[in-house]
Amino acid sequence: MKITILGCYAATPRSFTNPTSQVLEMKNHLFLIDCGEGTQVQLRRNRIKISKIRHIFISHLHGDHFYGLVGLISTFRLLNREQELHVYGPKGIKEIISLQLKLANSWTNYPLIFHELQSKEQELLYEDDKLSVKTIPLKHRVYTNGFLFEEKPGERKLLVHEAQRLNIDKTLFKSLKKGKDVVSEDGELIPNSMVTSDPEPVKSYAFCSDTVYDPEIVPMIKRVTALYHESTFLEEQHELAFPTKHSTAKQAASIARDAGVQHLILGHYSTRYSDIELFRTEASEIFQNISLADDGKEFTF
Ligand SMILES: [Zn+2]
Repeated sequence: MKITILGCYAATPRSFTNPTSQVLEMKNHLFLIDCGEGTQVQLRRNRIKISKIRHIFISHLHGDHFYGLVGLISTFRLLNREQELHVYGPKGIKEIISLQLKLANSWTNYPLIFHELQSKEQELLYEDDKLSVKTIPLKHRVYTNGFLFEEKPGERKLLVHEAQRLNIDKTLFKSLKKGKDVVSEDGELIPNSMVTSDPEPVKSYAFCSDTVYDPEIVPMIKRVTALYHESTFLEEQHELAFPTKHSTAKQAASIARDAGVQHLILGHYSTRYSDIELFRTEASEIFQNISLADDGKEFTF
């Protein structure tokens, strides 16, 4: 599982920082999460294979999270894309994007499918045999969702030598990998645990931006491999966090601690701060395993 941060700063693009966007690579998928202004340039700069993007998840309709979307959709058209593109985002996103395409008379020549969200409960957005994607309802100034990406457990690992030693026919290997007991050529019942070991542990990623401090999300993100949680402010400016419905570094760390996550990635820093290390310092008092997102940074788990 690999996360590439394309942009992780709040509000306005600057000469050397970008608003929110990131790419998650999981089980051969390339998911784009949020698409702030400048996302296309960042995708190129970070050498992401953009034709592999089939699903785009937009957390909310504040500009710093989706102003790059219409540009990317239009570029896909210029690149003669044929594959479907699925866009998941708040109700209204279809109208915004369609209006721009309509007035420019530049409809896409590939299927552009919107999945508009309005539920305040957790929803399943996508699922295949390898993974699932669900919403994490967040509390912000407008309707907002985070996203939870979870791998499904793979097959059990076959201990080939052991299976051969016990004289198990090769045609039964598939059943063994699925966890079933089998009968050997000698007529003996072989318990599955004798010839297989546990599958690789599953990985999961929770993206939570933007949101006020909200302990209600904790049960949804329990023990995830990595949590990206916004930390727009430091505690010093905590009086700004609640009215703008954002979190501080300390609050993000409290959520990570309470959910027992493995890694916390901080981001969505207000551009008022010149040294983002201050976010790590503050969060470290509550939670140990912290990384700071920064534009162009990659995280592999
Ligand atoms: Zn916002």
